[in-house]
Amino acid sequence: MSKILEIHGLSKTYGEGENRVKALEGVSFSIEKGEIVLIVGSSGSGKSTLLNMIGLLDRPTQGRIIIDGYDTTEFDEGQTSTFRNKKLGFIFQSSNLLTDLTVLENVMLPRQIGGGDEKTAMADAAKLLRAVGMDSQMNKRANKISGGQAQRAAIARGLINNPAVVLADEPTGNLDSVTSDMVVQLMKSVARKLNQTFIIVTHDREHFGDIDKIITIKDGRATEEGSRMEITA
Ligand code: ADP
Ligand code: MG
Repeated sequence: MSKILEIHGLSKTYGEGENRVKALEGVSFSIEKGEIVLIVGSSGSGKSTLLNMIGLLDRPTQGRIIIDGYDTTEFDEGQTSTFRNKKLGFIFQSSNLLTDLTVLENVMLPRQIGGGDEKTAMADAAKLLRAVGMDSQMNKRANKISGGQAQRAAIARGLINNPAVVLADEPTGNLDSVTSDMVVQLMKSVARKLNQTFIIVTHDREHFGDIDKIITIKDGRATEEGSRMEITA
């Protein structure tokens, strides 16, 4: 096993003076390649802040984030956006598909942004769409598919650059419980099949069953709470 993510003493403070909010305080943990990790905690506890830091969408006030051996906190702006595109995959609460594009074109997009060849991008996108059960919907416009199908496509899009880590912030937050269960099982199965590391912020940990690790955030502090045994108990 090799460490794909290491977080050391991560803190994030927003605002100044009386508006100061300590969203994260001294968070440290590490994740091995291929692990499925859930981040749980009540609303406002700092989960999205943590995910945004790992996703290089925002900068920490203190601490280091090492992804696939690279200390990302040393990157300049250009390095940050290149690394974000190549090494990180994102799945959000709403699928954020571009409605003017087809499902296939949406999945290809992160590869093309990174300068990838169109033919290879198309072949890889089609393969991933098959893997998430969307082969029959590939050429539809993104606004012609259901919410569950859009989230399937978003999973494929998150995987297109074979990222070091896929980050998902409440990916089932907008879905009914049946669809949500389907999306959870799909993320788990592609993660296992591709040995793909997933970090998922969620409120439905019971849907996930056996996963590798649970990190609970409370008032900006993290505790690592889990192994398979404890979760299924
Ligand atoms: P969660 O995702 O667990 O609900 P967040 O990470 O969004 O929590 O927020 C953690 C804390 O940081 C909250 O008190 C929130 O109000 C604050 N916060 C988050 N983002 C910002 C921001 N951009 N500016 C100021 N405060 C913020
Ligand atoms: Mg949040």
